[in-house]
Order: sequence, then C-alpha cells, then structure tokens
Amino acid sequence: MNNNDFYRLKCPVCERFYKNKDKVFLDEFNTVVHQSCYGRYTSAQAILDQGTYRSTIEKYDFFHELIN
Ligand SMILES: [Zn+2]
Repeated sequence: MNNNDFYRLKCPVCERFYKNKDKVFLDEFNTVVHQSCYGRYTSAQAILDQGTYRSTIEKYDFFHELIN
C-alpha cells in the first residue's frame, strides 16, 4: 500500500489528520479517536479495539468502503 494516499481521517477531538503510527482507539460506533484524545471525547463509546491508526484501518473492511 502506498503511504502517500493512505486514507486520511481526522480525529474528532483534536481535528488533526491521523498519521499511520498514531495510537488510536476504535469505538463501537466505528469512530477512530487518538488514545491521547479519548479522555476529551464527549461522545465516547465503548472501545472495541486499539492499535496504530494504520493497523486499525487495515484490519476492518468497512473503512475501505467508507472512504472510497
Ligand atoms: Zn486527536
């Protein structure tokens, strides 16, 4: 996969684009949030998964459909 056109989602808390190595949580609404921002995420839901941004996005097919 080409790093340059890797999917670019923004964190709903800090509104920065994720970098591949950012540590994120995936919640049950399929929202990706920085682990460091999660405490300030007002609509926080139960966490389903965690890892780097890239590994999380690659793991779940629905992200591919969402962004294409
Ligand atoms: Zn953030």
